[in-house]
Amino acid sequence: MLVKPDDRVLFLDIDGVLNHFLLDWSIENIFTLCPKAIEAYQAMIEEIKPYVVLSSTWRKFPDHRDHLRKKGIRFSDCTPILNGIRGLEINLWRTTVGHTGRYAILDDDSDFLPDQKPFHVKTQVNRGLQSEHIQRIKELLRP
Ligand SMILES: [Mg+2]
Repeated sequence: MLVKPDDRVLFLDIDGVLNHFLLDWSIENIFTLCPKAIEAYQAMIEEIKPYVVLSSTWRKFPDHRDHLRKKGIRFSDCTPILNGIRGLEINLWRTTVGHTGRYAILDDDSDFLPDQKPFHVKTQVNRGLQSEHIQRIKELLRP
């Protein structure tokens, strides 16, 4: 699915968003995801239907991407890999596809550009996705 310039885009991180430190990481190891976070995330996606772009490190690994799809986490594209500041990767994606519409960045890290900060919804690695984050994403991306 190609993005349109005015689509509402969600840049999605995984670690620290759909998983967190309080989970039992011994079961699924590096593939650990939080069922509660996934459920809340899916409900949010159903409601606001954004164009989802994976910006997480998970995008670099086919088995990680497959695991996300298995868990029902859908995404239409991934940001390019610059191995640098995540904000630059998001900026390059938007420039390359000509995106000028609204967007939100859901991420527990903070390496974003000054003009991206207002659209950054920051989760905490020890809790992951919470209702206040979902509320903020809805404010930013509501149709
Ligand atoms: Mg993260």
